[in-house]
This record gives sequence, C-alpha cells and structure tokens, in this order.
Amino acid sequence: MVIDVDSIKPLQTTAGQYHGRFAPSPSGPLHAGSLVTALASCLEAKTHQGLWSIRIDDLDPQRSSMSCADQQLRLLDQLGFEWDSLSYQSQHDSRYDKVLTQLYREDLAYACECSRKAIHSRCDSGILGPVYDGYCRLRGLPTDDECYAARLRLDEPTLVTVRDAIQGDFSLELTSAVGDYLIKRSDAVFSYHLACVVDDYYQGITHVVRGYDLLSLTPIHIHLQQTLKLPTPHYAHVPLVLTASKQKLSKSQHARALTATHAVQLLWYGLDFLGQKPPKMLLDATIAEVWSWAKAHWNGEHIPKNKGIICPWLV
Ligand code: GLU
Repeated sequence: MVIDVDSIKPLQTTAGQYHGRFAPSPSGPLHAGSLVTALASCLEAKTHQGLWSIRIDDLDPQRSSMSCADQQLRLLDQLGFEWDSLSYQSQHDSRYDKVLTQLYREDLAYACECSRKAIHSRCDSGILGPVYDGYCRLRGLPTDDECYAARLRLDEPTLVTVRDAIQGDFSLELTSAVGDYLIKRSDAVFSYHLACVVDDYYQGITHVVRGYDLLSLTPIHIHLQQTLKLPTPHYAHVPLVLTASKQKLSKSQHARALTATHAVQLLWYGLDFLGQKPPKMLLDATIAEVWSWAKAHWNGEHIPKNKGIICPWLV
C-alpha cells in the first residue's frame, strides 16, 4: 500500500538532509529524562547540519493540556534550544484518518469492539501487555462506526529488527508479543504508533533519537512503516535517567519538574549524562557558551549504551 502522497506529503528538505525531532507529550512538566532526550536529538541534528523540529504529542485530550505544552516550550527556549518547526498532533487527525481509511480499504486493518477489560481477562500476556487474540478479525464490524477501535492485521509471524545506533539490534516477533495491534482507540483517539509513524513520514524525519523506554515499541513502528511502504528512519534510544531506587522518571508520576533557574548546570549535567565530558569551567559559563561548546564537541558515539543510568543529581 502506498499512502496518497498528494494529501500527505513530507515537508520539503534538501535531499539527504538530516532531520531530527523531539516529541514531548504535554502530560506534565519536562523532567531530566526529557532534557537528555531533547539535548541528544538536538545536538545530533545540529552537528549533522540538519533540521531539528519539535512535535507536541497531544493526541490524547484526557492527558494533554495546552498550558503544559506552552510551559514545555517556554522552558526549552529558556534553556537555549532552537527549533526549526513546531507542530501539534492534535491538529493532524485528518492525516491519520486518510491512512486509516486506506488500511481499511486494503483489508489490512479491521474494527474491534473488545473492551480493555475483556482483553485482559481473555488474552495471554506478552512482554508489552496482553496479546490480542484476533477475536474481532473475522467479524466484519463496520469500519465507519466511530465507537469501534481499529487494529492492524498481522497475518503471519512477523519478526522485526531495529538497528539501533546506541543499543544495537533489538528484535521482536509481533504476533507473539502484541498480536494485531491498536491503531485507533474506541474513544476515537489514534494510537501513538499510527500518529508517530505518519507524522515522522510527513515531517520528513530521517533520525529519531528518543528514550530507551520506546525501543520495545519501535518494531511496531517499523512494521507499520513497511505496511504503508514508508521509509524507516534511523533510530537511536538514549539511556533513561533513573532515580536512586532505579525508577524511570515519568511526567504523570510527578518527576521533579525542571526549571530554568539553574539552566547552565542543567545543561552541563545533561551533557555529562550523555558521555560528553563537559569541562568543569563550563559550569560558570553562559547558556550560549555551553551550547557553543556542546556543538563544537558533541560526539553521539560517546552516549553510554545503557538502558538507564542512576543519576540522583538530575532527578
Ligand atoms: N511523546 C513521547 C514521550 O513523551 C515520545 C514519542 C517519540 O519520541 O516517538 O515519551
């Protein structure tokens, strides 16, 4: 299947130009984990003479707020980040809808009415949660009824390998790990998988740098790209910032909110976390000086290849 490129066209960039992005969900203030992801994605893009865009992942109206997105952008600006474009997933529904309609038309997706509760009680668990058992596959539920969810059909065992620039190869067999996966929820919210893949394509994203917690979902994204005949960007998953008790930070679980009060120190610790060995004297520099040092000395190969790193001074 080929997406109707007249309606969904990637933004024009110079052929071969690096285009990276940072895609925070506005479900809480940015935390140290967001900072290191933003720094790594931004510096990779800038040092490849590329573009760096921000995409606000505000798909889910229950968990997103405009004021939170504004606050995130204000902080990034105060910390000296400079982005080339800004977009909001909440404004892309028609884009996602076109793709869903095509998937339905080609019988690559089907409508599903199973509740979360029914799935939990009926299906086996896999490494990413319950593995959907295909209950609605052959039921022929109407695809134009907004109250049904939509799932992508996996007809045969599907092994997908991510070639991750930091973490190495990661493979997942999708039928046993997730089963036919959700592309739209029954409350009409498109899934993160569909929205992310369609937007990365639309924006012409060539390199995705994000947190390690999303590596396990990347095989789903690659599968969806292959189903839609879209290019697969390069992926790099940076280690998570962990608390002293090895907990991952999460916006919804009230990780400490970053502020611009100690901007230089924050940037310094972020660069240090990412293996860049910033000199101590940079702690007394200005924000602009830290950025110019970072752009001159950035080396993505020095990012530690860990899943997560305990970093009490950042949390
Ligand atoms: N919105 C996701 C988050 O805040 C990141 C999505 C992505 O980078 O693909 O964790």
